[in-house]
Amino acid sequence: MKKRGRGKEKVTKLIKFAERAKGLEIGDKIKLILFLTGVKPNGEIILKVDSKNLGEKFDFEKKLKEEQIIFSASKARSYEEIKKIKGNQVIWEIKGTYFIYDLFGSKKDKEVFNKYLSLLNKGKYNQGDLVGGKHYGYPLSCVKKFIKEKDENFLKKKYTYWNYYKKQQDLDRKFPFIFHRACSLKCKDSIRMNQKYSEALKKVSKKVYKEYLSRSKFKGGLIVGGISDVEIKGKSIWPKKEGYEYELIFKKPFRKHYFLVSFLSRKKYELGQVLKGEVALRYDYAKVRISRKKRKVIKELYHKRKLPLLGEVTVQTGTL
Ligand SMILES: [Zn+2]
Repeated sequence: MKKRGRGKEKVTKLIKFAERAKGLEIGDKIKLILFLTGVKPNGEIILKVDSKNLGEKFDFEKKLKEEQIIFSASKARSYEEIKKIKGNQVIWEIKGTYFIYDLFGSKKDKEVFNKYLSLLNKGKYNQGDLVGGKHYGYPLSCVKKFIKEKDENFLKKKYTYWNYYKKQQDLDRKFPFIFHRACSLKCKDSIRMNQKYSEALKKVSKKVYKEYLSRSKFKGGLIVGGISDVEIKGKSIWPKKEGYEYELIFKKPFRKHYFLVSFLSRKKYELGQVLKGEVALRYDYAKVRISRKKRKVIKELYHKRKLPLLGEVTVQTGTL
């Protein structure tokens, strides 16, 4: 294990930063802390900046430099969140900017990372994924599986719709502390890593650990906003489905945000269907229980967005 930094005191300063930073979501706080303690070799984290935390970017970079951590920062990009739901419109608005930071354990790691980027730029994705996976410390078994499962034809042969989405859900629940998709529920390396990361986090930052474990519950209206699928040329690879993975949108804000959560169900609902239920949030996933189906269906529900491509940053799941 690599030990980082010249003195514990400074690392502590950065850990304190991670604990209180408003611009870091919980997953990024965890990643940063695990990197700082040397458990995670390298890491990519996102820092959001809006009017409430304008100084955090400067503060973060200053502390990284003091600690002599090699890093690169992306240019500013904008992100959106749902502002309101009006009629059939889910209206998003730009909330602020975000920066992607790549943090490196050593100069050599930075070189490997650049190799990874150059492979991706050349379109050598599989080779790139192998290099990238190693860089981030992901188990080889999982990286190989990830590469295989990028192929829709492989997915079609290997899984039914239900089995595929059920597996993703089970993996998310079994391994809340890792940052890669485990190849299976039995993957020994992932089990070990999940355990190690969880213990390290608990030891170094009780605050973030507790926050991550805390539960919260939303009760109220939920709108069916979408159905997950895998397609080849616009056609589902699973024309027959034994269930559905829905994207549910909270009808009312919860902790000041409209959340989007996934929900796997055997039942068939229409897009725009309004449901009533409970969502229990813990770690970075949600458990949904539907109590009833309302008569209301919002016809032609659509997302009014300025930035259609930034889903990963705007989707709010988990505890905030
Ligand atoms: Zn694995």
